Parts: sequence; C-alpha cells; structure tokens
Amino acid sequence: SRKVIIAGNWKMNKTAAEGKALVDALKPLVADVCPDVADIVVCPTFTTLAAVIDAVKGSNIKVGAQNVHWAESGAFTGEISAAMLKELGVEYVILGHSERRQYFGETDETVNKRLKAALAAGLKPIVCVGELLEERETGKTEKVLFTQLEGGLAGLSKEDMAKVVIAYEPVWAIGTGKTATPEIAEETHNYIRCTLNDMFGKEIGEGVRIQYGGSMKAENAKELVAQPNIDGGLIGGAALKADSFSALIHNA
Ligand code: 13P
Repeated sequence: SRKVIIAGNWKMNKTAAEGKALVDALKPLVADVCPDVADIVVCPTFTTLAAVIDAVKGSNIKVGAQNVHWAESGAFTGEISAAMLKELGVEYVILGHSERRQYFGETDETVNKRLKAALAAGLKPIVCVGELLEERETGKTEKVLFTQLEGGLAGLSKEDMAKVVIAYEPVWAIGTGKTATPEIAEETHNYIRCTLNDMFGKEIGEGVRIQYGGSMKAENAKELVAQPNIDGGLIGGAALKADSFSALIHNA
C-alpha cells in the first residue's frame, strides 16, 4: 500500500542544457505511469534545477535537489538554503548520501540539521543510510544503520517522520555493478523498518517508504521492488539516460 518512489540521482552530471534534453526525452516515455501508483523524481545539480523544473511542467516527473544547508541564510559560502530551493519549485531533497559522508565530511549530526531545515521549509527529504563493504563483512551492518537512523532522525516528530523517505544504499553496491541480492536487500530493509517502528511507532514506521540504491537497473528493479519492504529505488548511473531510466521505472 506504500506508493513506489523511483528517484534519479544525477550526482555531478548534466549541464542545464543536457538536463533539459534528458527530461524532454523522458517525459513521453513515462507519460503512462500513473502518479497514484508511483512517484518519479529527478535530482539534478543546483545549477541544473531551474531548467529541469521548467522542463517537467505538465508532466508526472517531480524534482529534487541533492543537498540543502541547515541555516536560513548567512555566511556559508557555497551553500544553498531550503527557502532557495522552495522558491525554485523543488519538491524533494536528498540528504546524507554516502558520497557526501565519504568526501565532504557529512555526519549524522549534520544530516539531522539539514533534515530539520528541509522539513521546516516543506521539502520532502530522502535520507540516505548504508554500510561500507568492510562493515558488512565484519557483521556491523545493523549497528551502522541503527547509528545512522538514530542520529540522522533524532528529535523528529511522528508527523515529520511521515514525510521522510529513507534510501538504503549499501556503499559497496554504489557504482560498482554489484547489486545487493533481493534477499540481502529485503533483510536489511526489514531491519530498517523494524528500527523505524521502534523509534516512531508502527503506525508511522509501516508507512515510511524505503528505497533501495546501488547499481539498480532495469534488469534487477522488478525483483528488488517486489520485496515487501522495498518501496522503490534511488538510481545513479541508470538514471542518466532516458531509455534506461524509463525501462527501470516500468519494470519496477
Ligand atoms: P548507482 O545506481 O550508479 O550505483 O548509484 C546509486 C546511488 O548512489 C544513487 O544515489
């Protein structure tokens, strides 16, 4: 009963012109996807947002940003506020992606601050969690996920949690072509679901959409999204071309 959400994370790809071209090509390919059945989201870079928001008008494609700062304004060179994203017409925002944690010092604490700012501004957050290969191999996956969820979602009201999407992205599966098997992904999604139920109550936890991310493509999307606790995908590489993203959406 949870609505599927398929989001393309374009990462640092696509200029404004390229982003517009991708959306123009994608629109007719996914026009048959009923918005009541699935949310389709694309997440371009900040500089490509405006062109993409213009290009998706009148379609069933929604737009998200890849990050947001927690302050309303001020001396934060290079950062973007939630109000700036809202003004453009941005609907979703990705937070705590593993690349931001790995390369840009993102922590559960900063994810939590960004999350609260995003919610206060009416953005719909996609909060990313996931373990490193070494953590999986040494049996620490659940501990790592628990810490990320506890820290990242700290202090959230039930009402706010109901607006959050979680993306489970095992770091070893991102951009590697090594997708988690549906069994491993489902087992982990189930753990995340149980943790959310404990933190926010079953009524909220059972409603939260949990996306899988990490080398998801048309060929494996169906099996993954068929799992009871996998409610969609956060897609990198396969979202950069209209035909592969559309095929993935239709299979999911
Ligand atoms: P890939 O689909 O390229 O593995 O990337 C996944 C991802 O990081 C989406 O946020």
